[in-house]
Amino acid sequence: MYGLSAADEDIQARARAFADELIPFEVEAELSGGLPDDLTAAHKKRAMELGLFATNLPRSLGGGGCPALQQVLVQEQVGRVTNALGWVAATPPSWFPPVATPDQLARYLLPTIRGEREECYAITEEGAGSDVDAITATARRDGDTWLLNGLKWHVTSFNTADYCFFQAKRTESEERGPGSPDGEHLLFLVDLPSPGVSVVRTPAYSHTISHHHPIVAFTDVRVPAANLVGAEGGGMLYSREWFRFERLMVAARCAGAAERLVAEMSEFAAARVAGGTAIARHGLVAGMLADSVTELFAARSLLYETARAIDRDPADTKTAHAQCSMAKLYCSEMAGRVADRAVQVFGGRGYMRENVAERFFRELRVERIWEGTSEIQRMIIARQLTTRGVTALA
Ligand SMILES: Cc1cc2nc3c(=O)[nH]c(=O)nc-3n(C[C@H](O)[C@H](O)[C@H](O)COP(=O)(O)OP(=O)(O)OC[C@H]3O[C@@H](n4cnc5c(N)ncnc54)[C@H](O)[C@@H]3O)c2cc1C
Repeated sequence: MYGLSAADEDIQARARAFADELIPFEVEAELSGGLPDDLTAAHKKRAMELGLFATNLPRSLGGGGCPALQQVLVQEQVGRVTNALGWVAATPPSWFPPVATPDQLARYLLPTIRGEREECYAITEEGAGSDVDAITATARRDGDTWLLNGLKWHVTSFNTADYCFFQAKRTESEERGPGSPDGEHLLFLVDLPSPGVSVVRTPAYSHTISHHHPIVAFTDVRVPAANLVGAEGGGMLYSREWFRFERLMVAARCAGAAERLVAEMSEFAAARVAGGTAIARHGLVAGMLADSVTELFAARSLLYETARAIDRDPADTKTAHAQCSMAKLYCSEMAGRVADRAVQVFGGRGYMRENVAERFFRELRVERIWEGTSEIQRMIIARQLTTRGVTALA
């Protein structure tokens, strides 16, 4: 199905087998807030052995060098697993090589691709999420160093990472505080821990995973000039490319989650007898099953075609930008609907934390929020539709 090549099916099968190895650990992770570090390290090692780690980085840098479709196939399979256990099949920043200095490659990216270092992103603030331009974090040049100040929210993986990308606006002011309104955006590498970087608090979130999302204060954090990413004002060139990539991978993981849910709920519905017949034979339940698998097929077709279009014509970034937004929008909304139905099909069992539907019901909610909310995706799609026309997009 889907016209996959032998090489596509090979990496897909490896990723599927790996996800099946992780599934038995889900309940332990759910009830313990994640798995012990040694077990996570073993899973990461296994992902690397199977060629599922850094699939998005070129072979010349030690990555998998996979085409977009194969990256999607891997992330789709690890998306079948809850509690973020699949995050060990990590995708380091593929936007980084074109703007990284040789020193930054050696100190940060290459060790990340080897699985020795881990990054996190400190961009969002209390008053700046969808509108990143509203950030008030500042960067002031001071001789051969930069002085960084800001308060960042939702810094995913701060507790496991050993460096972060910190986004700020340039300021000339000696005073700490908001950057000048027209200050250009700058991106920095900050080693963790560093003097001046501290966790304000670690809020609890809907999902139960070992990666936390704390609020982090950066107070007079001094980094060498060599830690500025890209040329001054040019470090942000990465963001559109990274958003495209991340949105496609979110879409892939959502398709994988939906497949798992459809499989589990249909198996349950075929076996559970109520009122003298399998509930799958009750029309109202059958409708939920039919709608779910139909939407999964539509979502996956959109997802694979979006990836194939990128592989066919990598230079057509405009189309890719809109189609990755379409894939993220549809797959994340679809997975949310499927998870809601799955809880319903499982009935009371579907409300138990040991049940896959319950976990995905909570976990999938954020897929409509991070990497650009569904509303932001719709804005991007509609803007391209009205400027380039329907045939350019669909
Ligand atoms: C679990 C989690 C992990 C995260 N990890 C990270 C991370 O590692 N690093 C990081 O920097 N950030 C991270 N984020 C932040 C995430 O990217 C933002 O939450 C997201 O971009 C939305 O921004 P916001 O929360 O400020 O919502 P807001 O921007 O305040 O949006 C609120 C509502 O208004 C709508 N809205 C806003 N602007 C518009 C508009 N122009 N048109 C229509 N509707 C609009 C939104 O769609 C939403 O419904 C994370 C968030 C979560 C929940």
